Amino acid sequence: MTVTRFAPSPTGHLHLGHAHSALVGWHRARAESGRFLLRVEDIDPARCRPEFEAAILEDLGWLGLDWEQPVRRQSDHLADYQGALDRLRGLGVLYPCFCSRKDIAAAVSAPHGPEGPIYPGTCRALPAELARARQERGDPYALRLDVAKTQAMTGPLTFQDQREGAVVARPETLGDVVLARRDAPASYHLCVTVDDHLQGVTLVTRGVDLFHATHIHRLLQAILDLNVPTYLHHLLLTNAAGERLSKRDGAVAIQALRRAGRSAAEVRALAGFSD
Ligand code: GLU
Repeated sequence: MTVTRFAPSPTGHLHLGHAHSALVGWHRARAESGRFLLRVEDIDPARCRPEFEAAILEDLGWLGLDWEQPVRRQSDHLADYQGALDRLRGLGVLYPCFCSRKDIAAAVSAPHGPEGPIYPGTCRALPAELARARQERGDPYALRLDVAKTQAMTGPLTFQDQREGAVVARPETLGDVVLARRDAPASYHLCVTVDDHLQGVTLVTRGVDLFHATHIHRLLQAILDLNVPTYLHHLLLTNAAGERLSKRDGAVAIQALRRAGRSAAEVRALAGFSD
């Protein structure tokens, strides 16, 4: 059975790009007599706010979407992410990273990947005793995935994308990603992979902006022995200037459209789904 999901981060209001994404997943579940789930990705305490969560759910309901209860809220499931981190630590594929953003930006040799500079691996080379001493001394650190070491353990991997076909996973293009941050117990990459598995998601529908992230998720699925869903990375809606819609395009917030008197059917059409 097809199980899809929409996984908003409550860091702002829902806009047309999000509505498009939610509708893609909802329609697929409906068309295939499947299930549609909602997950609140509120793992980042500094950026997520309960009032945004409430507003997002309100807007989705107004748009005519329905979803199963209970809604999974990541902040309620920290033990699941901790369990995954413990397994990865046991496999020897995590290392503590003490670098600040500034340190990384200053590393002139840092190669660039699709999402900016790739972590140059400075702390991967730290002698274990030194890393331990710094942890014991209370220096703040993040946990990074040693991608090359993990890949050597899993071997080559592929995933299915409904637009691209079979894709060879190249997680090295994002480098040694952070899986637990200094200021948040787990990162997007870890939580999303664990949650899609635990929620039994079979088809991950999300924007093509997250295509590179999927390569890392595939690696995490292999090393953690998790289910591998099929993916549909849909194209992003653009504004009149042909640029990707973002929260900065205040006028395309669903709330603004509602206040301007647009009907739900009109907003669905603006989000790419005419009735
Ligand atoms: N929470 C992510 C976002 O709002 C989406 C994650 C996903 O669909 O995998 O960008």
